[in-house]
Amino acid sequence: MTEGKKMTGDKSSAGTQDVVQCSDVNCPIHGNLRIHGRRLAGVVASAKMRRTASLVIERTVKIAKYDRYERRRSSINAHNPECISAREGELVEIVECRPLSKTKHFVIVRRVQ
Ligand SMILES: [Zn+2]
Repeated sequence: MTEGKKMTGDKSSAGTQDVVQCSDVNCPIHGNLRIHGRRLAGVVASAKMRRTASLVIERTVKIAKYDRYERRRSSINAHNPECISAREGELVEIVECRPLSKTKHFVIVRRVQ
């Protein structure tokens, strides 16, 4: 009788190792932030702000006159949810969302690779 109870207790505690506590209301997975629009990939340049990361997005633009490409880069601020907590140098995917602050309208959805 008592052994059976113990077994069920073990079951509930097993497999919870990879569950991350996330109380972020602006998390696209655990909170209620809806994502829509542009989807970009970029490298985290700075993750020093609280729940915010600054990313560098690189793109190529064709210069027709010389039939060559030039690289352009722009930096975008994105929300960095607790469950992802991307660090400097990591390649992440971001998706457009509603404006979260004056300069933030993207959210990190996953690490690439
Ligand atoms: Zn989360």
